[in-house]
Amino acid sequence: MTAEIIDGKVIAADLRARVADEVARVKREHNLVPGLAVVLVGNDPASEVYVRSKHTQTQAAGMASFEHKLPTDVSQQDLLTLVAKLNRDPAVHGILVQLPLPKGLNTEAVINAIDPAKDVDGLHPNNAGRLAGGFEALSPCTPLGCIILTKSVHASLEGMNAIVIGRSNLVGRPLVQLLLNENATVTIAHSRSRDLPGLVRKADLVYAAVGRPEMVRGDWLKPGATVIDVGINRIPKEDGKTRLVGDVAYQEALAVAGAITPVPGGVGQMTVACLLVNTLRAACAIAGLPKPAV
Ligand code: NDP
Repeated sequence: MTAEIIDGKVIAADLRARVADEVARVKREHNLVPGLAVVLVGNDPASEVYVRSKHTQTQAAGMASFEHKLPTDVSQQDLLTLVAKLNRDPAVHGILVQLPLPKGLNTEAVINAIDPAKDVDGLHPNNAGRLAGGFEALSPCTPLGCIILTKSVHASLEGMNAIVIGRSNLVGRPLVQLLLNENATVTIAHSRSRDLPGLVRKADLVYAAVGRPEMVRGDWLKPGATVIDVGINRIPKEDGKTRLVGDVAYQEALAVAGAITPVPGGVGQMTVACLLVNTLRAACAIAGLPKPAV
């Protein structure tokens, strides 16, 4: 048996096309142009690549894209002043401050300063709390993408046993809440969990969000399980270059799983597509329009 490969590229492209259709509709019917502002502090090369990709994809979806680049040594006060300005700007419906911030800046204070209605990263405590309470909320993009990928295989997750490995605010914790909303039965594992292979073996749905290359082995999996690999790890190759691998031993898992996301080409593709979804949803909510059809 070889697992079905869940093609994040195709699923993300379909999602982006549906967002673009809805953006065109709200523009036509309500003269509303959703706008996303991305704030990049410093010149971390990986962050610059992400920000460029967000800018291109936002524009391709027909939305307005505003980029703000600040120097590494920007003061906390100047960063907060920019966030306050974006909070007031009626052309901006989504604000994303690219993380990690350079040392010396207080990330928590910056996240808390973002208007929760424009918090398209879903990290503000208002949104995290609303999600945990089962209320309507802007949810973090990567976990949203994980749910969409899972639902490309299973129409309903009701009653399925899911395990989420990793409990970060960005991925693991919100993913658990989204799975609960889908009526899955969820285990959350972390670095102190005992007998991780035994816990994983019970799961129909396995989410690995750890940051340890190929940690989840093929013989940990229940045959037929659906595996969503969030990990992005750069490991050295013999020729001095690097290659990307996930948190799951992909070749081993292929022989046991029912379906699996590749790295690259899986979850990573979904994150920016879901950012576009959140920006469209935020714009409609701020304008008092019904939730868009995506
Ligand atoms: P964090 O470092 O914030 O969290 C890692 C989690 O893994 C922690 O909860 C930690 O447990 C747990 N962990 C560490 N070691 C083990 C272990 N041996 N056994 C079980 N659990 C362990 O990472 P993120 O959540 O931010 O990211 C996780 C991965 O996902 C990374 O590879 C990152 O690059 C990737 N990522 C990918 C995205 C995408 O778009 N595809 C987006 C965001 C992240 P504890 O809490 O006990 O320390």
